[in-house]
Amino acid sequence: MKDSVLVVNSGSSSVKYQLVDPESGVAIAAGLVERIGEPDGLITHHHDGVDREHRGPIPDHGEGLRLAFDMFAATGIDLTTAGIAAVGHRVVHGGEVFHEPTVITPEVLAEIRRLSALAPLHNPANALGIESAMRVLPSVPHVAVFDTAFFHTLPMEARTYAVDAEIAKAHGVRRYGFHGTSHQFVSGRVAEFLGRDPGTLKQIVLHLGNGASASAIDGGRAVDTSMGLTPLEGLVMGTRSGDIDPGLVMHLRRSAGLDVDAIDELLNRRSGLKGLCGVNDFRELRRLIDDGDEDAALAYDVYIHRLRKYVGAYLLNLGGVDVITFTAGVGENSVPVRADALAGLERLGIEIDPDRNARRSREPRVISTDSSAVTVLVVPTNEELAIARFARACA
Ligand code: AMP
Repeated sequence: MKDSVLVVNSGSSSVKYQLVDPESGVAIAAGLVERIGEPDGLITHHHDGVDREHRGPIPDHGEGLRLAFDMFAATGIDLTTAGIAAVGHRVVHGGEVFHEPTVITPEVLAEIRRLSALAPLHNPANALGIESAMRVLPSVPHVAVFDTAFFHTLPMEARTYAVDAEIAKAHGVRRYGFHGTSHQFVSGRVAEFLGRDPGTLKQIVLHLGNGASASAIDGGRAVDTSMGLTPLEGLVMGTRSGDIDPGLVMHLRRSAGLDVDAIDELLNRRSGLKGLCGVNDFRELRRLIDDGDEDAALAYDVYIHRLRKYVGAYLLNLGGVDVITFTAGVGENSVPVRADALAGLERLGIEIDPDRNARRSREPRVISTDSSAVTVLVVPTNEELAIARFARACA
């Protein structure tokens, strides 16, 4: 247990946690505290192949973590005396301030709170989780790992929106990018897997989960990414629209009479695949398509069309690419998405091998043909392990 890292990912009414050995990558225990603040709170804790549950009211994040710690204790792990090296916290927005993992002091916590204006759904919850965890584990270093940090290297032309420059400056309006921990982890694994120096590789990483984003990475440096000021921009996602004409917001305001919160809810929670066909899970989407559902077929086509547009843009911006990598729930598991995203690109040196693509595995693997000029990979992401390693290195 000694030298392991507790990774904490707090949402507004939930806390996901995992105790990780950063050396071996083994997840020692993991759990989820849900429905914080509601009468029917739930904690599911997984350790040594056994699932344990706690049901009952969980008034706040602090109590949720205390109850989770009791579940650790019930399996013989006392986190307060186990000698863990650090607690690593996922923080969504690091703004212009945080470019790397940072040991949390009261000043850092205040700054994370101040950045809530840019991430009102995420940073307040992240800060709450940090505060609660620091209270229950006061003698261990707590480290914030920011979703935006990997993208602080975006060149000016990729990070700048073409809007009034003074307004943009006054309100922090620029492209920040998200899922950075995953893009950084996966692009690093790609170089390792291929036995190449990351400095020599031009990469496109497609993180396709319930949230989805693409990145262009040149010699280890992120040079473009599809998410922007918020995680709403870019690819079609489970429930988020991705790119839209910004005029749509004004149109909905004027024509449908929706206020800003209703539009926010519409674009973040009732759009994307769910908005188009009623489901946001890719397995259900495939089932609907197989049953002949036309809305689901269209949703899939819109998803793939957008994805190909980004791959094309990044191919051009990078001036050619060595590796394209699929990761996250959809990217790691959906054979048709990978095939359709890169179909018919043989002239660009991209050839998927259907048998390799159809093979299932939890390991990094090549799915392109031996003659493909561009190597296409599937590399499982592991944000918890990445956070644990950052926290260990920083603590
Ligand atoms: P993530 O956000 O990375 O956890 O990805 C979650 C999404 O991955 C789910 O909503 C599913 O749409 C998708 N997914 C998970 N498993 C599969 C699978 N076996 N086949 C297709 N899609 C999957």
